[in-house]
Amino acid sequence: MAKIVVVGAGVGGATAAALLAKKGHDVTVLEAHIYPGGCAGTFYHQKYRFDAGATLAGGFHDGGPHDVVGKALGIEWKTHPAEPAWQVHLPDRIVTRYGQQDAWHDEIARAFPNQASALAFFRNMETMSDAVWAFAARQPAWPPANIGDLLQTTRALRPSTLKTLPHLFETAGAWARRSGLHDQAALTFLNAQLLISAQTTADNASALFGAAAYDLPRKGVNHVEGGIGTIAVQLVEALKKFGGQIHYRHEATRFETQNGRIVAVHTNKGARFECDYCIANLTPWDLARLLGDAAPANLIRETHTRPDEWGAFTLYLGIADQAPNQHLLSLPVEHHQVIGEYGKALGEGNSIFMSFSMPNDTTRAPSGHRALTISTHTRSANWWALRNKPGGQAEYEARVVQYSEQMLNLAERALPGLRQRIRLQLPGTPVTFKFYTRRHRGGVGGFPFTSIFRARGPHTGFLNAWLVGDSIFPGQSTAGVTMGALRVAAQI
Ligand SMILES: Cc1cc2nc3c(=O)[nH]c(=O)nc-3n(C[C@H](O)[C@H](O)[C@H](O)COP(=O)(O)OP(=O)(O)OC[C@H]3O[C@@H](n4cnc5c(N)ncnc54)[C@H](O)[C@@H]3O)c2cc1C
Repeated sequence: MAKIVVVGAGVGGATAAALLAKKGHDVTVLEAHIYPGGCAGTFYHQKYRFDAGATLAGGFHDGGPHDVVGKALGIEWKTHPAEPAWQVHLPDRIVTRYGQQDAWHDEIARAFPNQASALAFFRNMETMSDAVWAFAARQPAWPPANIGDLLQTTRALRPSTLKTLPHLFETAGAWARRSGLHDQAALTFLNAQLLISAQTTADNASALFGAAAYDLPRKGVNHVEGGIGTIAVQLVEALKKFGGQIHYRHEATRFETQNGRIVAVHTNKGARFECDYCIANLTPWDLARLLGDAAPANLIRETHTRPDEWGAFTLYLGIADQAPNQHLLSLPVEHHQVIGEYGKALGEGNSIFMSFSMPNDTTRAPSGHRALTISTHTRSANWWALRNKPGGQAEYEARVVQYSEQMLNLAERALPGLRQRIRLQLPGTPVTFKFYTRRHRGGVGGFPFTSIFRARGPHTGFLNAWLVGDSIFPGQSTAGVTMGALRVAAQI
């Protein structure tokens, strides 16, 4: 039985911890915050329970990563299919993302009537997506760090994987153009889907990863009872059931190393936890920070050369849903993506994603109210520049107001009357995310998925330590970090 310390109870850390506890190891999780989940956590404020970042979860389908973990740990996930998954409000039309295949194909034909090739292109993406998801379900160890990983990856290949080869080196954008997709609305739609699922737009997104990411609704996305944070809560329950422990308010402040191994983790409480193996649910920058002088040269180089991750600007809104006799927000779906203007870069308030708690869900909001999370991609550097500028507080706050207004205007366009129903409004910037998740500069969502050959593996430079979380392949989302955690747990 090995002594394993896991730093961080995000979905990646909590998954790896619970799987290893089930195997009989002595697992201790150190979590800086007072509840688990990190970017996929749910927090309580004035009678509302808000999803902090993630709001919709994929990967619960048969053979999907959460399904595999749930079966291994005996977890009955508290999830309900979201069908349709979400609506995309383009400047001049609404596209409903049905998961049901025929309904979705009819919707493509209806939404993009001027673009005959749209249906064929998106269907091709779905074919590739099936091959990629099937490959992923066989748990390849990508990117390979040694001969064992390479063999495991090779064993995951099947004849059906071969059909992905023509797209191995191209971007989703190049593929779209080659397929004759030129319509501004269809391209904006594609870009908007990829920004939220692959963290970059079509011209930079790997075609294959882009296909798998675009196709999430067809694979099935889910609401989680009590908010997205229930996923991590259920994982922590499983951890404890199998004898593991978790210490909240324990922030790891230093990794102690000896002879190429991490031998102990020190915390802000002055505690020292010895370990045979260590799992860090951290970004590479935070790993390097905790290693201090012991950080390997490769890791230091990585932290100097990788561009920062995206940040998120968020609004958490308590919404009065009920007029005297009706749900005025009788929405066809709970999740909406709204695009401001065509021809303008997405993110920075020109695209938002908004998610309501389910109607009548009194675990999330008082009766007659809904908890709403709205987010937009934003560059963290601009927020930190103002935060760190002497006397920059007023400018920082003005920026918060400007972003809030811009996002509320878009939200109001999609759901007229929303503004007057706001009863509580809390903003979140990358500075807020840094405070609550401890992530480097409050960056979120891992690295943009530009090429499968630039994917980062779980290696740390230490023989007995691995990274989990959205910095490692396949990256962001609760499903993505679960795949990474499955790999690391299996290796240990
Ligand atoms: C606005 C937004 C919207 C998103 N939407 C979706 C979505 O709809 N669907 C989806 O699947 N994904 C979504 N994501 C992405 C998803 O939330 C993340 O990719 C995923 O949750 C990251 O998990 P992780 O394992 O990397 O852990 P993280 O979320 O990074 O959590 C890390 C944990 O470690 C703890 N920690 C950090 N440092 C220390 C330390 N030194 N000591 C102790 N503890 C520490 C933190 O407190 C935290 O609990 C969204 C993200 C954001 C920000």
